[in-house]
Amino acid sequence: MKKRKEFLPFSRPTIEEEEIQEVIDCLRSGWITTGPRVLNFEEEFKKYVGSGHAVALSSGTAGLHLAYMAAGIGPGDEVITTPFTFAATVNMIVLNGARPVFVDIERESFNIDVTRVKEKITHRTKAVVPVHFAGQPCDMDEILAIARRHNLLVIEDAAHALGTRYKGRMVGGIGDIAVFSFHPTKNITTGEGGMVSTDNAEYAEKVRLLRFHGISKEAWSRYRAEGSPQYEIQFPGFKYNMMDIQAAIGLHQLRKLDRFLEIRSRYALMYNQALAGIPEIITPGKVPYEANHAWHLYTILIDIDRLRRSRDEFIARLKEENIGAGIHFPAIHLQPYYRKAFGFKRGDYTNAEYVSDRILSLPLFPGMTEGDVEDVVAAVKG
Ligand SMILES: *Cc1c(COP(=O)(O)O)cnc(C)c1O
Repeated sequence: MKKRKEFLPFSRPTIEEEEIQEVIDCLRSGWITTGPRVLNFEEEFKKYVGSGHAVALSSGTAGLHLAYMAAGIGPGDEVITTPFTFAATVNMIVLNGARPVFVDIERESFNIDVTRVKEKITHRTKAVVPVHFAGQPCDMDEILAIARRHNLLVIEDAAHALGTRYKGRMVGGIGDIAVFSFHPTKNITTGEGGMVSTDNAEYAEKVRLLRFHGISKEAWSRYRAEGSPQYEIQFPGFKYNMMDIQAAIGLHQLRKLDRFLEIRSRYALMYNQALAGIPEIITPGKVPYEANHAWHLYTILIDIDRLRRSRDEFIARLKEENIGAGIHFPAIHLQPYYRKAFGFKRGDYTNAEYVSDRILSLPLFPGMTEGDVEDVVAAVKG
């Protein structure tokens, strides 16, 4: 096999002339922080996902922090989630003073095992936080049914799931609150950025207040000609607002999302077909209900016993072929802080551990060519 000339990263944002021109227009407009472009982005976003409200933030992590706060999660509360997720999902539970309670994943979709959520509900449980891993939706009807029965909120970590559909419904308008990320590897980007979507006006208003010092009028409504400069602090908030410079990028990214999704799913299908039947590799599983996968990630499991090689050695070998890879995710419960603070240990969530030791993410982004996909396949088979 001939080695690729250029390194193929596992992800790269697709930024085109429209985004560049809009950022230039924004910079020249005299208004670069939260203002008309953020308002516009929020409007278009809520139309896309079909939610009543959308609030733009500086990151998905900020979105999780404020969504949990708006939901009233605090000291003494327990929040049920998956140990197979990014740090932010669980860190923000802890930083709100609550206790994360893990339910293991199932081995097909790597999403939270809905059948085992019930076992973990106590009188302290306040919310369930499903993570739609890689863009494959969790079984939301089941999760919502359990939550309604036990009076729990459902806050979706939808960082991977912009464009994901579950039984015809778009993620973002299904649970009580959903949180999205616009980090450069995600399905659309604003550099850094995030969005909270909800049908609940009260949650939306809380997130809006908390994102800017607890002040009900942001600078845009104070400094423009029609505004008045007075303000009041309703309660102490953060500085988590999105800038218009970011929204300038996001507005055009959102308009391109359907094209991006089409390319992602086409390449995922190419990978599925090319890698099926290789005994050392397990391609992504499916869920037993109607779903549209947003393919934020294309992951495979390496049969490390059969290969007699660790996942990390496998990744190093891909790198020698100039192919990048990612690890999503190292299991949260085995991280030093979580072992120390909560006493988690190996053996606690065996499916998450099994997957976490064997998983890797292959390159998948709209700017790739079919030739790039073929190079990856050849390197993986190599
Ligand atoms: C990316 C990600 C986040 C955090 O989003 P940021 O915008 O990077 O703060 C949260 N949860 C999951 C599952 C993610 O992948």
